[in-house]
Amino acid sequence: MVVRNLLLKDFLRSFLNYSIKQCTRNIRLSLANASSDIDDKFKLPSRYAGSEQSIWVEYLELFLKYKPLNLGHGFPDYCSQKLVVAALAEVANSDNDLIHQYTRGFGHPRTVTAIAKLYSRLIDRQINPDTEVLVTIGGYEALFSIINGHIDFGDEVIIIEPYFDCYEPMVRYAGGISRFIPLRRANKDSSTDWVLDKKELECLFNSKTKIIIVNTPHNPFGKVYKKEELAHVADLCKKWNVLCIVDEVYEWIVYEPNEHIRMTTLPGMWERTITVGSIGKTFGVTGWKMGWAYGPANLMVNLQMVHQNCIYTGVAPIQEAAAIAFEKAMTNLNQKNCVFKSTSKELIVKRNYMAKILCDAGMEPLIPEGGYFMIADWTPLESQVDLSSEKDKFKDYRFTKWMIKNVGLGAIPPSAFFSQEHKYLGENFVRYCFFKKDENLQKAAEILKKWKTERNK
Ligand code: PMP
Ligand code: GLN
Repeated sequence: MVVRNLLLKDFLRSFLNYSIKQCTRNIRLSLANASSDIDDKFKLPSRYAGSEQSIWVEYLELFLKYKPLNLGHGFPDYCSQKLVVAALAEVANSDNDLIHQYTRGFGHPRTVTAIAKLYSRLIDRQINPDTEVLVTIGGYEALFSIINGHIDFGDEVIIIEPYFDCYEPMVRYAGGISRFIPLRRANKDSSTDWVLDKKELECLFNSKTKIIIVNTPHNPFGKVYKKEELAHVADLCKKWNVLCIVDEVYEWIVYEPNEHIRMTTLPGMWERTITVGSIGKTFGVTGWKMGWAYGPANLMVNLQMVHQNCIYTGVAPIQEAAAIAFEKAMTNLNQKNCVFKSTSKELIVKRNYMAKILCDAGMEPLIPEGGYFMIADWTPLESQVDLSSEKDKFKDYRFTKWMIKNVGLGAIPPSAFFSQEHKYLGENFVRYCFFKKDENLQKAAEILKKWKTERNK
């Protein structure tokens, strides 16, 4: 009897165990099926494939993890234009409660008025604030709205390399095809070195070409296009009936004797140019993420269509503060102490200091004509660093990652700004941002000096 009971107990125990295992297995299987069903159906839509890697996401994570001195990401680490912050405080403390509610979709009235007034003076043409200006979420959204508002499937877009990395994916998402042309190094000197081969550019234009994107002053090379260079692009745009997007977010950061020429002022170009600006660069407040586009009403209407159904309206208090700042800065537009030009004066000292410390460290910096990035050839140091711990395909990625982890200095690899086939053209370089506090640039000098001593031990 006892034996029978024991056998029954054993049987029940193993039956129970078996049932639990079966159940768990079935649950696991159905979960696995469900998750693979979900994964299959909800994988990244094909138009986004190839965009998984973002230099900003990847390097920001590295900066957060290793906490180097960050000369990589392009933003000032202090507030250089107090007037914008004062304007924001004025908005926050005002009695105008409605400023915290939705404002006009294509741009807050006071802001489009200020932008139209500013550029009417700069380009010597009356701009209509209601139909010829769109206020956007940063330069990014201006680019997105222009590209998506004009590209149809199969349209071609000419992109000059290196390019701000979002241009290519934006074209692809819109169904367009990017055609690349690299700036080529004429001779070893400043960033004036980097030129477009005229014949090569001419060969890219054809009946399918819809847009060319020009970025001046240029990120990351610091090139400021000369009038003759812009005129050549303009002639091709007119010949082939092409829209020119000019990304001028660094329009106010130009070092003398270089001069920022606005493409839209060239003969016959207003009709086919849309210009992009950004409050982040104009007043050194990248976190405000307010940008704009201006151009002829018949083209701007296409941007408005994109904007009204994805953004609808920008951030009202930021737009109001930007308008106040513009109104104040415009009062002395043509004078020596013009607020807009003050950043360049502040930055030229930093630019020269940056060039010196990079030279001292054994690199070969290229002196930018505009913007706040400096490209340096780091390969004179190549034989002194062992990058074997880094596995990236391109050696500027390996070098910058190795520097972040071992030397404590953050930079961006320029090959991120080239198409796949031309990435090798960026590999010998590294990009530093010098819009940083003097004390931080001095820290960078100390870091580089210490590294040099260690290398020479
Ligand atoms: N264009 C260029 C060349 C840039 O460097 C950036 C980065 N700020 C942008 C556009 C985007 O500007 P925003 O931060 O105003 O979106
Ligand atoms: N324009 C800045 C740079 O080049 C920031 C880019 C970004 O945050 N996506 O560093």
